[in-house]
Amino acid sequence: MGWWADRKKKKEEQKAAQAVAPAKTAAPAKATVCEAAECSADKEPVGLAAADLGPLLPGAPPNGKFNLAVYWAAGCGGCDVSLLDTNERVLTIADMANIVMWPIAVDGKEKDIAAMEDGSITVSLINGAVRNSENEHMVKLLRKKSLIVVSYGTCACFGGTPALANLVPGGKDEILDYVYTKVPSSAAFQSKYNSAKPKIPQTSTTVPEGELTLPVLYDNVYALDQVIDVDYYIPGCPPMQESISHLLKAVADFAYNGVALPPKGTMVGVTSKTLCEECPRKKEYKRITEVKEPYQVDTNNDKCLVDQGIICLGAATMGGCGARCTKVGQPCRGCYGPSPEVQELGSSAFTAIASLFPVIDEDPIMGEDKVDDIMSQIKDPLGYFYAFSMSKSLIKRSVKEGGQ
Ligand code: SF4
Ligand code: SF4
Ligand code: SF4
Repeated sequence: MGWWADRKKKKEEQKAAQAVAPAKTAAPAKATVCEAAECSADKEPVGLAAADLGPLLPGAPPNGKFNLAVYWAAGCGGCDVSLLDTNERVLTIADMANIVMWPIAVDGKEKDIAAMEDGSITVSLINGAVRNSENEHMVKLLRKKSLIVVSYGTCACFGGTPALANLVPGGKDEILDYVYTKVPSSAAFQSKYNSAKPKIPQTSTTVPEGELTLPVLYDNVYALDQVIDVDYYIPGCPPMQESISHLLKAVADFAYNGVALPPKGTMVGVTSKTLCEECPRKKEYKRITEVKEPYQVDTNNDKCLVDQGIICLGAATMGGCGARCTKVGQPCRGCYGPSPEVQELGSSAFTAIASLFPVIDEDPIMGEDKVDDIMSQIKDPLGYFYAFSMSKSLIKRSVKEGGQ
């Protein structure tokens, strides 16, 4: 049963309860738990638009290379690999920069970074969200050692898919319990080897050789600028090669020739418009009477996907990617984050979609039940509308109140 169907069932139960119970005085609303620092989702992007191919990178500098660090926090690794997407430009990255850390490519150690002078790393590209004590330690260390810190990729900019873990009301304890005792392979392992009491990894374990430690998992997953000060943002899951080239060219111009950097807070490779405005598909604003998955539709290549019943978040998503998903028949899931006009992506996209439900104009007697029917066709609505932006959402996380 989906979230919306759960809600519908709860409402029916509440109605039934109200029919027999006297009305209660509403208790003062408890503050929703929001441990994250001040949300900056409403930050207006300055924009550094990507050209079609992005600039060539300048190669070896006359007066020495600049220092570059790349760090992989809570993410899938795609952002780390994406530097290789710069095609032939990747050959000049090693000419331009001393790579002091890049986990996928060079063997830079934490102690080497800690030994460097503060501010001696010209630029750190930090990908992934912050979800454990090691991530937090490393991003704070890199901030201290770096002149420029870039929030690199959607997970770093908005929390990304790792931040969907914020929807688990019981936080890290519930996640660890599920992963190590409920997942079928874990459950089979625990019942075979630890039948008396399931074993869950601990952050500290004493062995004959000494103490072994693991990073502490946090209840909340944070976007990078909720933990440290960030200079530039480069959204995308992962960032596109044009944006990466623009960013590195700007850093090289600064390091080699003293060219002024873009204003702090600039988002690289974005436009000030929504994705819909750069999508070539034509919108007819048809009413949605049935929600479909892309695989269920033989899509028309010219028409808006929403007009064909497929939920697309383009109306609330920042433009800049060139509509690379919708051009190939896949809906936008919002990896570029909210467009400048919207305060947060999930609720704005949801509102845009819900405004197309045929509630009043076409069927004046359409009741809430019909709306519920349409909504229940959207699989995992919270996961769909907040797939990339949960850390920067107004919701931020699920909580348990009164044991619920
Ligand atoms: S933004 Fe996308 S590609 Fe980059 S780490 Fe997150 S999930 Fe992976
Ligand atoms: S809703 Fe999606 S498919 Fe439709 S125009 Fe906007 S981006 Fe394109
Ligand atoms: S279409 Fe949407 S999901 Fe796809 S790359 Fe562009 S912003 Fe990201």
